[in-house]
Amino acid sequence: MIRSLRAQLALWHGGLLAVMLILLASLIYIALRQVLSSLADAALQDYADTTARNIAAAIYQAETLAPQRKQSPKERNIVDKGVVTDYWKTATSWGRFVQVDDPLGFPVALSDTLKTDHFRDQPELRNRILSHQERVTFETLTGKDSVPYPMRVVTVPVELGARIPFLVRVGAPVEGVEEAIARVQTLLLVLTPSIFVIALAGGWILVGRSLKPVDEMTRAALSIESRRLDVRLVPPRTDDEIGRLASALNEMIARLDRSFRQTERFTADASHELKTPLTTIRGEAEVALMGDLAPEKVRATLHSIVEETERLSEIVNNLLLLSRADADQIRLKHEPVALDQIAMQAFEPMERLAHRKTITLDIAAMEEITVSGDGLWLHQLITNLIHNAINYTPEGGEVTLSLVRDAELAVLKVWDTGPGIPPEHLPYIFDRFYRVDSGRSRDQGGSGLGLNIARWVVESHRGTLTAESTPGEGATFTVRIPAIHDK
Ligand code: ADP
Repeated sequence: MIRSLRAQLALWHGGLLAVMLILLASLIYIALRQVLSSLADAALQDYADTTARNIAAAIYQAETLAPQRKQSPKERNIVDKGVVTDYWKTATSWGRFVQVDDPLGFPVALSDTLKTDHFRDQPELRNRILSHQERVTFETLTGKDSVPYPMRVVTVPVELGARIPFLVRVGAPVEGVEEAIARVQTLLLVLTPSIFVIALAGGWILVGRSLKPVDEMTRAALSIESRRLDVRLVPPRTDDEIGRLASALNEMIARLDRSFRQTERFTADASHELKTPLTTIRGEAEVALMGDLAPEKVRATLHSIVEETERLSEIVNNLLLLSRADADQIRLKHEPVALDQIAMQAFEPMERLAHRKTITLDIAAMEEITVSGDGLWLHQLITNLIHNAINYTPEGGEVTLSLVRDAELAVLKVWDTGPGIPPEHLPYIFDRFYRVDSGRSRDQGGSGLGLNIARWVVESHRGTLTAESTPGEGATFTVRIPAIHDK
């Protein structure tokens, strides 16, 4: 088993090419051989047929010129042979080897070219023609068959009605055809392996070139560790499969990088967040243990400890909620809910809190709008937003809620007259544990998770949550969720 993709591809490519080349060369060779031989045979037969026809015509003429003399077969034979001999006085063989045999196989006439040798009698072929089994026969004679060099010989009858007085045999050296074929053969034998070697080398180089980025990517990938995810594979400049693979891997590494960083930051923030109340609790408890405190002091200390514990469990609850949301373990309902009713249900309990801070809580608009979603989570969302607004608005301020329809969307706004959010903080307030002023905000009971949960709820309802603010004049939080058409 070869483990290099380069070698495998090159071998496959080479192997296929070799098979095709061999096939092609054999086809060319066979086809050429057939075409050349049949062309040569046809020319040979053409000449033989013409000669036979001419002789037949001459014999016919000689016999019809002397019809009055009743000839015996023997006499006729003599006349016929005379005709053949006469014919040869005028005929030319054009370099071919021509021989006229009588039906017994004896040569009657020979072309000049055959003066020293002649074609040996082939009784079997001769009989096949004489018995009309075949009209033409071909044979290939080698040097041993009493001819000077290998020859192709055609035999055709001289036909006078059903009578065959002579056989015409015409031969031509096969040298020309064989030489042409041999040349092509050598050419193919040299060309085929050369093309194969060139293509194999070319394939090896090309495959190597296109796989080079893969090797580089492998090396880069090996150097990436979980602590060094900022490294990226260098994507090849081309937009081919490998280029796309590199970019896809880079995007994947970037996502992993982001999520690793997020997890790291989240763990650090969470530990820090949990540490603060724990330190407070421990400090308070130590003070209580130290000396004889008045019972009311002990009560106050215990009260404070209970408060910190409550904060702790709220943080832990929120953390649990977020990690379940991250793991996609929370199934929200998707049923029609009247958003205006939910808003009112969230609004009312807040009035007491606002009253305590002498903040005016108001409703600017409240349209009846149905959305598809989970009533409990939407209630939690609106509570969070109003709670934040009351929390961060100083005494005497105003917090207003409105719900209106805008085309296909239910638009819920909560705005206040508080200090607002500085623009440099605005993009981050939805992040986990993010607080604009951590000291102040912690005193007010926030852990920086509320808006993150709010955004998760909105996004789970296929909506958006945005914040706008003019520092010093307050902040506006806007929820947009697709509304259901009222029938
Ligand atoms: P927290 O639990 O601290 O309130 P949130 O995620 O709800 O956390 O809010 C994140 C930060 O955004 C808050 O710490 C606060 O600084 C700022 N913030 C949220 N709502 C308001 C608002 N209505 N006015 C001013 N600042 C706000």
